[in-house]
Amino acid sequence: MLDGLDPEQREVATALRGPVCVLAGAGTGKTRAITHRIAYGVRAGILQPSSVLAVTFTNRAAGEMRGRLRQLGAAGVQARTFHSAALRQLQYFWPKAIGGSLPRLVDRKIQLVADAAAACRIRLERGELRDVTAEIEWSKVTQTVPADYALAAAKAGREAPRDPAEIAQLYAAYEDLKRGRSVIDFEDVLLLTVAVLQDRHDVAEQVRAQYQHFVVDEYQDVSPLQQRLLELWLGDRDDLCVVGDASQTIYSFTGATPDHLLDFRSRHPGATVVKLVRDYRSTPQVVHLANGLLSQASGRAADHRLELVSQRPAGPEPVYTEYADEPAEAEGAARRIRELVDAGVPAAEIAVLFRTNSQSETYEQALADAGVPYQLRGAERFFDRPEVRKAVSSLRAAARFGGNDSLLDDVVDLPSQVRAVLSGEGWTTQPPAGSGAVRERWESLAALVGLAQDFAAAAAGATLSDLVTELDERAGAQHAPTVQGVTLASLHSAKGLEWDVVFLVGVAEGMMPITYAKTDEQIEEERRLLYVGVTRARERLHLSWALARSPGGRASRRPSRFLKGLRPGSGAATGRTAAGGPGGVERGVGSGGAVAAAVPRRTQRTPARCRVCGRTLTDAGELKLMRCEDCPSDMDEGVYERLREWRAL
Ligand code: ATP
Ligand code: MG
Repeated sequence: MLDGLDPEQREVATALRGPVCVLAGAGTGKTRAITHRIAYGVRAGILQPSSVLAVTFTNRAAGEMRGRLRQLGAAGVQARTFHSAALRQLQYFWPKAIGGSLPRLVDRKIQLVADAAAACRIRLERGELRDVTAEIEWSKVTQTVPADYALAAAKAGREAPRDPAEIAQLYAAYEDLKRGRSVIDFEDVLLLTVAVLQDRHDVAEQVRAQYQHFVVDEYQDVSPLQQRLLELWLGDRDDLCVVGDASQTIYSFTGATPDHLLDFRSRHPGATVVKLVRDYRSTPQVVHLANGLLSQASGRAADHRLELVSQRPAGPEPVYTEYADEPAEAEGAARRIRELVDAGVPAAEIAVLFRTNSQSETYEQALADAGVPYQLRGAERFFDRPEVRKAVSSLRAAARFGGNDSLLDDVVDLPSQVRAVLSGEGWTTQPPAGSGAVRERWESLAALVGLAQDFAAAAAGATLSDLVTELDERAGAQHAPTVQGVTLASLHSAKGLEWDVVFLVGVAEGMMPITYAKTDEQIEEERRLLYVGVTRARERLHLSWALARSPGGRASRRPSRFLKGLRPGSGAATGRTAAGGPGGVERGVGSGGAVAAAVPRRTQRTPARCRVCGRTLTDAGELKLMRCEDCPSDMDEGVYERLREWRAL
């Protein structure tokens, strides 16, 4: 059971009484260590399977954990999301604690928000509805009541989609309406469980008698409400094991905070704290880039970062490719993917990761053109998105009736006609302020206008009706989602997963960081997103960006600031990242531009140093470990720090 673990992981697995806190970077085997811990405890007869509750944040992660536990001979352990664990308890205790059966979960929450808006006589467009819904959800997970919304939102630096007073009013009306209709929402499941456990000691005691050991994966993502629930489950006990990586906090906009992870030791003074730095997932080349990204980070999460040390054999350097425009970037990625698949790499071992879901369309198309099957994770396929479906049907109607004293009579070129039709739906050429669903919807429609531009440029004299035919064909040609395919995913939905080959696309200013990230904290969260993306790759990592959005467009884009000093030829390295391997920047083939040869450039190499004593390393084996052979490996950061100081004296 413990054979497949390193000494620190083994320490986690054998520390069967909490509190235990594992602070570790991506790919260091956190999830592996806690599943082995549970299985080891069960097989040693120390943990009763039914008394263990393992919690995580997505159904996929919970399912994966159950699978791993089964394989390790620990079937019967509850591995659930916070929501499913709470829902089960609530369903069980509701009749006794409250009477009757648990109210039904609302199935169309957005409609309920729309009804609340109607009751308040506030007009909200579709995108705003989603953004207001997100604000209500955020308020609930941060335990903010309507009266406190304005203040709390301002304090948290949230960009309210409407006047905060209006949102507070909508939030209150939404809650009333929900009660009136006897339905509950997703957040209520947690709120009600918390309320029942708080108010009914008999129920709390029964739950506590059932569950005695708690394990939480991805703890940096815990919301204040989930934390409260965890505390109630525990009562005055502290048999809790949490694992997390503050540098992977990418959900703070939904109320998640790494503070609970980082403050664990001060809240539990007797806690066993284990740090894992050996990275088993990625090659030294990928790990080097990940470390470099974090060395430039700032803020609370960055203060606690741990330098990763790859345990894998050397692999290829990350490949950086600059393209003339986005379609060329997508074609370039698709071409490389085709080559990899032809060379025997399973498509399911390849992922294309992007910042916003609106970027997926170009890649869906390019992969479909290259005959590569793909699947989308966590996003609707581009042509299935409601705003895109609606826009295409408006274009179809305009194409059909366009000749009859329509608004299009005076609009001569095709892209302008498309813009005119979409303007009729409230679309504007300038993006709306702020982030969220309104912005996502705008991006989708902007991508549609971009498609029209590309089409018009390629087919002179094409009409609106030709465009609609083209769009229908593209929608039909896309591969149906398949599990065997290349994964297309946003960086947010890629967390916790890994692939042999990862293409990080759109690594440009304006995308990473995204334009609406303004404050230092928002920029840091964007940097962490890129870190999450980089650390998904086991073997090969491709990073690319395009100088212009569309062929012939203004080449105004620049590669992401986060790559500065890390990408060959991008200026001086900063921080502790100087020990770089050879790498190259390739210039991609722009769809209209000249073919530029791949120009690998060597960067100035700063000598790699032992991470313990700081001695310059030359031996290949030592370089792999980033440590001299005679320096011990299993020490915590504090010891390294003292050793460095001591040797410097
Ligand atoms: P993330 O932060 O991305 O969630 P993680 O820290 O949870 O990563 P795991 O997913 O548990 O990391 O492990 C990463 C990879 O390394 C997995 O493929 C896992 O099987 C492998 N791995 C972890 N520990 C070891 C080990 N001691 N020996 C060999 N392989 C290991
Ligand atoms: Mg994990």
